[in-house]
Amino acid sequence: MAQKGKIFVVGFGPGDFKHITTRAVEALQQSEMIIGYKTYVELIQDLVSAKSIVSTGMTEEVSRAQEAVRQAEAGSIVSVISSGDAGVYGMAGLVYEVLIELGWTEATGIEVEIVPGISAINSCASILGAPIMHDACTISLSDHLTPWNLIAKRVEAAAMADFVIALYNPKSGRRTRQIVEAQRILLEYRSPDTPVGLVKSAYRERQEVTMTTLAEMLEHDIGMLTTVIIGNSSTFFYDNKMITPRGYQRKYTLGEEKQPLRPHQRLREENEPWAMNQETGTARNDFTADPNAGRFNKPSIAATPKPKKTALEMATAALAMVKGTSAVKVTPKLVQQKIESIFELAVSPGVANKFFTPQQMMTLAEVVGEEGTMEYTPDHQIHLKIPTTVPEQITEKLQEVGFLLAPIGDVLSLKACDFCYGEKADSIPYAEEIQEKLGGISLPKTLNIGFNGCGMACYRAVFDDIGIVYRKSKFDVFIGAKPVGRTAHAAQPVVEGLEPEQLIPLITDIIEEYKANAHPNERLFKYFKRVKKILHFTYQDMSSKIKVEPAPCGD
Ligand code: SAH
Repeated sequence: MAQKGKIFVVGFGPGDFKHITTRAVEALQQSEMIIGYKTYVELIQDLVSAKSIVSTGMTEEVSRAQEAVRQAEAGSIVSVISSGDAGVYGMAGLVYEVLIELGWTEATGIEVEIVPGISAINSCASILGAPIMHDACTISLSDHLTPWNLIAKRVEAAAMADFVIALYNPKSGRRTRQIVEAQRILLEYRSPDTPVGLVKSAYRERQEVTMTTLAEMLEHDIGMLTTVIIGNSSTFFYDNKMITPRGYQRKYTLGEEKQPLRPHQRLREENEPWAMNQETGTARNDFTADPNAGRFNKPSIAATPKPKKTALEMATAALAMVKGTSAVKVTPKLVQQKIESIFELAVSPGVANKFFTPQQMMTLAEVVGEEGTMEYTPDHQIHLKIPTTVPEQITEKLQEVGFLLAPIGDVLSLKACDFCYGEKADSIPYAEEIQEKLGGISLPKTLNIGFNGCGMACYRAVFDDIGIVYRKSKFDVFIGAKPVGRTAHAAQPVVEGLEPEQLIPLITDIIEEYKANAHPNERLFKYFKRVKKILHFTYQDMSSKIKVEPAPCGD
């Protein structure tokens, strides 16, 4: 058997050989192929024995990931490289996304190893001193793949919450406004003299370090290879170092041999008044991150003490909220960005109706828009895939023009004939009732009920999972067709001449039994074949006469 391939996704750190991990070097040396952005491939070239090196342009990340997967699936050991850490705005997520698209799982697919590296936030911080000692975050200012309003929200949230912030991708030849706008937002919440460190090309030949302030940072050179570290409200400069204390300076008395507080004295309100009270769970509101909060354009949110509520008042309000009886309107303070998702559904003009109106066609065009797709299916439905954040609005519009909507996937769908456009319509109400009661319910596997209005069964109900044929004011029922494949066969007749009022209870019982007992993904005919009995109907082998060589796809 050919050797099994493997993908390493390697973060090689800031760019010099001393700050790359041993595991990263091992991975690079074991690899037969290295894939990465040109400049990065050049940076690590001397460490590598690979026979084949694929270097691509900055913007070809997806094709890099795809190429890596292709090579590994063909049996190669491949390293995909990122600077810093591959999981921080690097290649790790992309490689997984490409694999997921192909149905990869850890158990069945090629091996993947993500090798961690020192990210720019850490390498740049070490050069500046100790600026990220306290809660910190990274924000990429690149709006190529992220909407700017989301980035702005994150900058604002981080600014408001007094995080130390490492800004990645702060500026490039074409993206110059983002850093200006970020500074403007930050200045709403932080002092103009907040310490800021700029590190360009950390641990590389052209390393440059600048200590500046929030107000003046734009007067210095900031580029593609710069990380901008914004201090929090207690960060300070000392001897050309940027330092953020571990906590409030009042917490430690540095330089004294003995700490003023013994361990058991800490967290007590009289000693550390900013901490949460261990008995009541409350905290004082007048402790803000910045003792000068309120001095800037926007006061800190914590600066205004809220009127105190009694425990009973709080409990009553909470209970009212849970019960949904709250008279008080709660305004959420959450920073939320709705993620656009693809909404999928099936539409048809009706169970027994195959005519579309012009209005319906126009509504379809409108809701699907330029970005969505409509696909006509063999099940007399149109499948819609529409990117949206407001699926309710779409369903509303479709229902307004009289569409029948159904979910897609492993659900029950009803296919009826056109009842010769009305002549054989006595049974339509039964079809509609089945649709209403059972249509769209989720099942172990797709299940189609074929419903035909006369003995001609010209919509081939007997080739559906459950076939129902209306004949002489009664119903014939068939179950267990194998509708697809080379060994396809018709369903087995199980009832003849069923009284109309018995139809829906019978179908419901069959569906319930199947739903409760079938294995996931087991289609009705397979289930029938395995258990040999559904309700009191005994399985008969409808496929025994069919003899074909098995096909590779398992049919
Ligand atoms: N995966 C990388 C980040 C890639 S995004 C990591 O974990 O570090 C690219 C951004 O990272 C650059 O715009 C810059 O802000 C930052 N960066 C990467 N390497 C850097 C270095 N050596 N010095 C300073 N900043 C660096």
